[in-house]
Amino acid sequence: MRSITRFDIQYAHRFYKFQGEAQYLHGHTGVLTIEVEDTIEPGVNMVYPCNEIQKVAWNVLKNFDHALILREDDPLLPAILDVYDKQGIRNGAPSNKMKGEAFRTEWATAYPDARLVVTKETMTVEGMIKIVYDLLKDKLNIARITFTSGVNAATQEYTPTRTLDRCPLCGVELVNGVCPKCGYRKH
Ligand SMILES: [Zn+2]
Ligand SMILES: [Zn+2]
Repeated sequence: MRSITRFDIQYAHRFYKFQGEAQYLHGHTGVLTIEVEDTIEPGVNMVYPCNEIQKVAWNVLKNFDHALILREDDPLLPAILDVYDKQGIRNGAPSNKMKGEAFRTEWATAYPDARLVVTKETMTVEGMIKIVYDLLKDKLNIARITFTSGVNAATQEYTPTRTLDRCPLCGVELVNGVCPKCGYRKH
């Protein structure tokens, strides 16, 4: 069975060199849906607690929220960083609080202090799914990711490779047989 969690992500981007309106900087509220698949853990009668999926995923997804997402070769990137530099906000500001954990993968690099994500490829809905899967595949048993942004939507199915050993009291994954949340020990 699957547990399904939804995230709203507000961001600005553009499709550099794309022939259409999307080549201009604009914003969206993107909707990301993550489906996690596993057996039902009988103790909690759940696949995986959705609020835990929220926590694990939002830790990285926060980087995309109220952020600017640009392709690495986009000339807007140095221009914007120059403005942020002159304003003294490139390396953070007291009001920049809801920051995610910085990351660097093959597909994207997050700069939480500048609320910026630099991508290797254009950040289309398809591109976002690739980025998100890569960031979360080792943390969650992902069976499907769907991303909707404006009129664009894409979805990708994955084959979960593991069955997580979960806490019968909390439903979260046990670490070396111990629940990181409540301390339950598997006998
Ligand atoms: Zn767009
Ligand atoms: Zn527990």
